[in-house]
Amino acid sequence: MTVAIYPGSFDPMTLGHVDVITRAARLFDEIIMAVVTNPSKASLIPPEDRVQLIRECLGHLPNVRVESFDGLTVQFARQKRADAIIRGLRAVSDFENEFMMSQMNKLLEPEIETVFIMAGQEYQFLSSSLVKEVSGYGGDISKVVPPAVEKYLNRIKSHKA
Ligand code: ADP
Repeated sequence: MTVAIYPGSFDPMTLGHVDVITRAARLFDEIIMAVVTNPSKASLIPPEDRVQLIRECLGHLPNVRVESFDGLTVQFARQKRADAIIRGLRAVSDFENEFMMSQMNKLLEPEIETVFIMAGQEYQFLSSSLVKEVSGYGGDISKVVPPAVEKYLNRIKSHKA
């Protein structure tokens, strides 16, 4: 049985993430979406809400589970007996950082492979931070996030207003 983790902030999850996990779910028997809860990294959405939102959006993928973690990704991967860490690659700008991280992770845990999935063409430009910016200024994000995420962001916006 092949197991992979897909770590990230997912603050919030976008259709780019959904595309990556949907394609990865065909390659592995089991995938754990691993929501990073690093307290030193400021986030818009509390980790428990991010986990809940992802569960809502990915209920149709039976081999995907959602958990949160802090600490090193490789430690979490090892704890879950994962064979691979999945990462998404958008433009060339993602490459350098992802390359460094994968080399370091290889050094720490030689048995665990990092598997890169290229972003779908329509999601190359899409990032969580861009979604937060557009949403914060009242822009329409319905084409780039799942409906549950759109609803959530609209709700926290109206609470702030
Ligand atoms: P992190 O803080 O770890 O970068 P993100 O939630 O921003 O967390 O991203 C998690 C993973 O998903 C990363 O590998 C990132 O490159 C990938 N990713 C982010 N947006 C997209 C997208 N639009 N298409 C494909 N992969 C993406």
